[in-house]
Amino acid sequence: MAISTDTDLRPVAPVARDSRELLAPLVELAARCPALTAEVVGSFVSEERAYELHRFHFHGPKAEHDSLRIGVFAGLHGDEPAGVEALVRWLHELAEEPWRATGYELTVFPLCNPTGYEDNTRHNRSGLDLNRHFWRRSDQREVALLERELIAGKFDGLITLHSDDTSEGLYGYTQGRLLNEALLKPALRASERVLPLNRQPLIDGFVASEGLIQRCFDGVLSAPSHQRPQPFDLIFETPALAPLDSQVEATLLAIETVLVEYRVFLAHSINL
Ligand SMILES: [Zn+2]
Repeated sequence: MAISTDTDLRPVAPVARDSRELLAPLVELAARCPALTAEVVGSFVSEERAYELHRFHFHGPKAEHDSLRIGVFAGLHGDEPAGVEALVRWLHELAEEPWRATGYELTVFPLCNPTGYEDNTRHNRSGLDLNRHFWRRSDQREVALLERELIAGKFDGLITLHSDDTSEGLYGYTQGRLLNEALLKPALRASERVLPLNRQPLIDGFVASEGLIQRCFDGVLSAPSHQRPQPFDLIFETPALAPLDSQVEATLLAIETVLVEYRVFLAHSINL
């Protein structure tokens, strides 16, 4: 017979997050889906446990043009699960409906900061904000591995996913480049069907207009500065306090809109 004790009154412990458990379904999916491959790009040890950074590669059906290489990154900040969940879901959806990635080779890094994800912290377990340490000779293994991927990937475009708990709406960083703006604007418009846009004149300390910020922090994940031409490079932010499902849905709408718009952009520039 169960006897009620005061242990029943203890608060329920938060659900432990396990980075391996999160990505295991994708690894299994890759084993079944010929268009999807899963690879470990490197590992590191933290508190006597091995952590791995995973890369998922999705080969979309061929188009008339050369395949466009896009790198998509999430979970640089461990307490922002929306982008992570969105990429896990996206890859499952693409496996079912590969036509959505026609003409694209997608390289997806759903979880860039596995220790932060498990600890539910913005920083990694060394206490650092990884997204301030790119291209600065960082000794953080996650940054070094991702920099290597950014060099080797020679991407035509980069999309990085974040969430912001101080924002009540969606927004993004264009880094002052016209192409970024041309892609991010329709992406925000599409995702605005699910969540509101942040129309504040100041977001995250930066001047903003219609959810677009021109400037950016130093040391964020970006293409190597010597790469020519520079890829488009978008940072998309969801309001972290909004329902997770809505953030995921808004993120997927944004990514897919970018893919469509980039093809349109290329078609125009070839005809010009
Ligand atoms: Zn973030």
